[in-house]
Amino acid sequence: MPRPIRASIDLEALRHNYLLARSKAGSAKAFAVIKANAYGHGLQRAIQALGPVADGFALLDIAEAAQLRAAGLTQPIALLEGFFEPADLPEIERLCLIPTIHGDAQLAMLERTRLAGPLDVLLKINTGMNRLGFTADSFPAALARLRALPAVRSITLMSHFARADDEAGIAPQLARFKAIAGGLDLPVSLANSAALLRFPEATAQIVRPGIMLYGGSPMPDIASAEQLGLRAVMTLNSEIIGVQDITPGERVGYGGSFEAATPMRVGVVACGYADGYPRHAPTGTPILVGGRRTRTLGRVSMDMLACDLTHLPEAGVGSPVTLWGDGLAADEVAAAAGTISYELFCALAPRVPVQVRGG
Ligand SMILES: *Cc1c(COP(=O)(O)O)cnc(C)c1O
Repeated sequence: MPRPIRASIDLEALRHNYLLARSKAGSAKAFAVIKANAYGHGLQRAIQALGPVADGFALLDIAEAAQLRAAGLTQPIALLEGFFEPADLPEIERLCLIPTIHGDAQLAMLERTRLAGPLDVLLKINTGMNRLGFTADSFPAALARLRALPAVRSITLMSHFARADDEAGIAPQLARFKAIAGGLDLPVSLANSAALLRFPEATAQIVRPGIMLYGGSPMPDIASAEQLGLRAVMTLNSEIIGVQDITPGERVGYGGSFEAATPMRVGVVACGYADGYPRHAPTGTPILVGGRRTRTLGRVSMDMLACDLTHLPEAGVGSPVTLWGDGLAADEVAAAAGTISYELFCALAPRVPVQVRGG
């Protein structure tokens, strides 16, 4: 028998979450963000679930975009970092992709390459994230250079918010965007999941939801996934494979970071950081055993972690464990571990077998 760990991916929930995102987008198109192997859920699985319904897609790698075209998808596909060398451009044309143009180096490559066109592009404006994009100073020249290229058929303006999920919100960036590009009669794409759900004023013509498609709240401090009507897509399950009854003063795991103050029953779960569970999750991180909530104990090992069964006398070897997903929001586990659900999902290890539901 293989180790009892497995992830299940619910394609029905993925579709549900996408349709919820689109229902918030009004008349805008919702491009499903499926970068990073669909946030760890599997590109082919995302294609299967979203191919029939999505208005468009956004990702990073041309090779991944090629997989979408090979699967027969004809929707628009945006490349969020654009291209990296001139040799990418013929591929972009052949696959009919929409590259982001975010810097002078890319403009120069476009100018040097003979393209048949027509090419649709996203022109990225840096409104305060200070990662990629043209600023108020460099934007006008960039727009003029793009407009001078005969192969370029359409230009959509794009920006990305740094704080759509916290109390600062998007107002400062939206104001800069308007100052830079407000007078232009061009389509616009601004909103990630958090902005889509919180700031209807940023909906524009294309929205780019990512994390919400996978059932993670984009703003767990403000609203839970459940409150937002999102369903868990990835559930990580395992089992109890060992039990230890320990006396006060006994310690659990590497470094002995947890010390029992009372007699305790400790369950050992076949899941560790080599499966993608965060090693920095401290004692007290929530976990379900037999559907009941308890807490982790001590340090997470490579292949195992420990949990508290003291108050779950019915639990023992073979009891089912949920690390996150159905019944235990990944956002809660992530918060306990000082990270975000995005990182938990992306870190799911290749060694974990995946079972697909709702195909
Ligand atoms: C990843 C990404 C998104 C999606 O963000 P979520 O917070 O996952 O909704 C949207 N736009 C850009 C440019 C991105 O890089």
